[in-house]
Amino acid sequence: MTITSINPATNEKLQQFEPQTKDAVIEAIGTAHEAYKDWRKTTFSHRKNCLLKFAKLLRADADEFARTITLDMGKRISESQYEIEYCANIAEFYANGAEQFLADQKVEVEDANAYIHYEPLGVLMGVMPWNFPFYQVVRFAAPNIMAGNTVMVKHASNVPQCAKAIEELFTECGLPKGVYTNLFIPSEFVEAIVSDQRVQGVSLTGSEPAGAAVAALAGKNLKRSVLELGGNDPFIVLEDADLDHTIEQAVKGRTVNAGQSCVASKRFIVVEAVAESFIAGFKQQMSELKMGDPMDEGTTLAPLSSEEAAVDLLEKVQSSINAGAVVLLGGDRPDREGAYFNPTILSGVTPDNPIFDQELFGPVATIYIVKDEAAAIKLANQSSYGLGGSVFTADTERGRRVAEKVETGMMFVNRPTKSQAELPFGGIKKSGYGRELSHLGILEFVNKKLIHLG
Ligand code: NDP
Repeated sequence: MTITSINPATNEKLQQFEPQTKDAVIEAIGTAHEAYKDWRKTTFSHRKNCLLKFAKLLRADADEFARTITLDMGKRISESQYEIEYCANIAEFYANGAEQFLADQKVEVEDANAYIHYEPLGVLMGVMPWNFPFYQVVRFAAPNIMAGNTVMVKHASNVPQCAKAIEELFTECGLPKGVYTNLFIPSEFVEAIVSDQRVQGVSLTGSEPAGAAVAALAGKNLKRSVLELGGNDPFIVLEDADLDHTIEQAVKGRTVNAGQSCVASKRFIVVEAVAESFIAGFKQQMSELKMGDPMDEGTTLAPLSSEEAAVDLLEKVQSSINAGAVVLLGGDRPDREGAYFNPTILSGVTPDNPIFDQELFGPVATIYIVKDEAAAIKLANQSSYGLGGSVFTADTERGRRVAEKVETGMMFVNRPTKSQAELPFGGIKKSGYGRELSHLGILEFVNKKLIHLG
């Protein structure tokens, strides 16, 4: 097995990387473990300097890193540029905030002086996906490196150029060998790593099957885990919503990263009073997307991440049509080279339809027309996922009430789910557990040690 970068816009093979042997991986764990012994003793200010330099290096070569993302997985170049800038923000957020997030915390208790003292845990393993190949890694690595842990990352096998570039950046910013390690390995090797007693925890972002496999390993070995899995975000449109704004946000929410985001808006739940107008406008704007070369600034719909991803999506869409879904737009792939998929809108997806409770990773929207707000909330909650979601209404107080009733980890009023360094990110149900980003993200893999002064 070699690890290959293939440009999904052309299906051209770009670069190949040799995977590491199991022995090399065991050696790398040893290096990360030794590095931890020193790294945990470094000051916040030393770690901060490294991560601030990391952010600076990212920005200095932002165009080149953005190109690497687009070549590996096909994202539109402007989205890749945004991703690099966002990673610099995340690095700065933890560089500047970690000391305060991990400051001793007094516990109010009678007759004693007690406090919580935060300490790092050791070597951590990250299993990362291809959809935001820089962001996903930085979101995991930055808080944990600032906390004094050392991290090893197995990146998705279709983004090896990104994986290599990230490791080089972490070296260049001054981290000693073993504080950040990239592993070019097949997913079967993850078991040996999580089972190794020197490894203290694992964080995975990806699909439900991958999450379940890694959670089982973590459970068996009594290791901490954080899982950020798929989503089927509801996008609720109430009768008082500003429709122009809502339709514009619906297109953005569904087609961010060509629809390959766990928090993309996926289920459009519209009350019947505005359904006809919403559908007409949404269909119009989805059909106007300009499919093309992701390196071209004028392109508004990029290819999917790989030919396999496009084939898999087509199978899902066809299975839903065979089960009675109605195609309002698209439903197929264009006749052109590359992993492209036509903008698609499906309606009539009933609970017995195979895609009703599946995550669709691509520009495929499902529309549900419901009687009223209560029915919208009920349908939004009829999902085994619970990641993000949004509600559109002219009445913010009403939006807040609806948001509190939807069973997800994140709810937004009048905009699709978004990720931002300061905001906690994560889900419930089959979308996983734990939180990333914000002050909560740095608390996942630390020992919250009680010190009690009698
Ligand atoms: P996967 O979940 O298979 O891949 C994500 C990461 O997990 C990759 O590094 C992958 O390695 C690794 N992995 C896969 N299986 C295992 C395992 N058993 N043990 C350890 N590691 C494993 O996602 P896919 O790329 O196959 O995408 C499939 C679907 O997953 C998408 O259509 C989407 O629905 C969902 N997904 C959700 C994401 C999110 O952001 N929540 C991100 C990506 C996908 P390798 O690449 O070597 O297989």
